[in-house]
This record gives sequence, C-alpha cells and structure tokens, in this order.
Amino acid sequence: MASHNLAHIKIDDLEIIGYSVAGEETVVAIPQLDVCFDVGKAPDQIISINHVLLTHGHMDHAAGIAYYLSQRNFCGQSAGTILAPKNLLGPIREIIDAWTRLDGNQIPANLVGVKPGDEYQIKPNLFARVFPTKHTQGSVGYCLVEKRKKLKKEYLGLTRAQIVELKKQGVEIDNPLEIPIVTYSGDTQYVDFSQLEYIVNSKILIAECTFYEDEHTVRAEAGKHMHIDEFAGLLNNLNNKHIIITHATQRTPMQDIRKILKESLPKDKYDKVTLFMDKRFRRS
Ligand SMILES: [Zn+2]
Ligand SMILES: [Zn+2]
Repeated sequence: MASHNLAHIKIDDLEIIGYSVAGEETVVAIPQLDVCFDVGKAPDQIISINHVLLTHGHMDHAAGIAYYLSQRNFCGQSAGTILAPKNLLGPIREIIDAWTRLDGNQIPANLVGVKPGDEYQIKPNLFARVFPTKHTQGSVGYCLVEKRKKLKKEYLGLTRAQIVELKKQGVEIDNPLEIPIVTYSGDTQYVDFSQLEYIVNSKILIAECTFYEDEHTVRAEAGKHMHIDEFAGLLNNLNNKHIIITHATQRTPMQDIRKILKESLPKDKYDKVTLFMDKRFRRS
C-alpha cells in the first residue's frame, strides 16, 4: 500500500510525482526517467526508482536514504544508486553502517559523490548534469540532459547507402545534440541560473520558491531560500516551457501564495507555473 498521498503532475508524456513542503519533506520523482530528486521520507512509490539525486543533507530532503536502500534489498531489487554532494558521502556511509548494525542486515548501496560540472549516465542517452547552488556547503542541483546525434546539414539529402559509405570512410556525419529535459534546483538562495544555457532552455524547471510575503524576505535570507521577488527576477531570464514550484512555506496559506504569484509574475510566466502541492493548479 502506498505510504504517502503524493502530488501528481503530467507534462506531455512525463509524470512527476512527489511531495514538497518546506521544513517537512521534499521528494520529487520522475519514474519514466528512472530518477528521484531528493528522497524525503522515502515514500513507497519511489522505492523501485534506481537513482536518487540528492541536493543537500537537510533532514526534510534526506531522511529516507537508509529506508530507500533497505526496502530495495528487502524487495529483491538491485542496490539503489544515490548521487550526493561529495562532502556528504562520509556521513551517508556512517548512517548506512549504523542502520546495518541496528537492523542486523546488510544494506547494499551504490554511492556516487558529485560536484558541479560532473555528469552521470542514467540511461544510454540520458545524463544527470550537476550544477552549484547556494544553500549548504557543497549543495547542488541537477539537470537531466538527453544526448542525441543529428545528421549534419550538408548530408541531409544523401541516401542510406551513401551515408553508410561515408561512415566507412570515417567521416564525422553527425553533430552532437543536447536536449535539457528537466532542471531541479533543490533548496537554494537566488543564483543567476541564466548563466547556464542548459538551465535557461530546460523544457521543465522544478525550482524552490519558499517565501512569498514581504516580511518573509529576512527568513528567506537567513535560511538561504528563494523569495518570490527574487524568483520573479530569475524567471525573467529563463525560457522554460513548464515551471513547477516546490518547497513553499506552510507559514503562508495556499490561497495567498496563489494570489501573490499572480501579482508578482508577468502573465506569460504565470501561465507556465504549477504549484506542486496545490491541487487547484494540477493539470491531472
Ligand atoms: Zn528544504
Ligand atoms: Zn535545505
């Protein structure tokens, strides 16, 4: 039986499921891409996903690490892969070791330490690219990039036989093509993500915007989170087709957040926004 009642959003052929409330729990999964961003308290619905991409070590994002790994073992699945900022691998190993002693069973794990600029292959054509955020020491975000090859313009009119012949001669007939599909920011204070082209053009942006009220600017600064005023500025320079907002505070009622969003964003941006935990915003 499912342990959580998760939010559920469908964008084209991708389903995005999860739960995200600031300070409580954040876990955002895309089962078709075999990826779960942060692990929250490890809801049952994400256990069979092979890759957890952890952004930082705060409890609301990372509490379920050992449970995720252990449940996979219990259900006869292969060891789960956890990508995490390099500086967190030591503490994560200690937690797994402690749980192994407590539980009495080995907990298989494939731990991968990452730093900004790294890429990790998720599927043959799908890579997780790591970028820096400003939240805790070593905190990162991830962009899922699909890599394809596209026939160079000059060879477009050729027959299959001619192309095979060129390949035989060792001619490079393709240009590499990168399609950024989803960017997940994790927790972060304002960063000018428009410096990174793959984030600017990512089809889907899943980003935190924690605070909305004017008097919460101080809280945003102290907790290294985004306030709507900064978030609106950030979106101005990005071209994402779909924007999913996560990690909203419980201090502001949902109806107020909706209202402030509408007032703060230009219409063309507002129309692309889905508040992850808002049932009224959900497209399916
Ligand atoms: Zn958080
Ligand atoms: Zn955090």
